[in-house]
Amino acid sequence: MNEAFRCPVCERRFPRTARQTMPFCSTRCQQIDLGRWLGEQYTVPEPPSLLDPDEFVDGVPPDQW
Ligand SMILES: [Zn+2]
Repeated sequence: MNEAFRCPVCERRFPRTARQTMPFCSTRCQQIDLGRWLGEQYTVPEPPSLLDPDEFVDGVPPDQW
């Protein structure tokens, strides 16, 4: 077990020497994981901003800019 890691994306074992892409077995799996992470970010629905005071400019709601 000391000689191999398991890729969290494809769950394949890969040799310790493939360290540049740790903890993934390959650049491809690295990209896949990154894509998943970004995908989750994008699919999280943002709350409606019209009632958020931070979105107002000088007290004017965004739909009246
Ligand atoms: Zn992999």
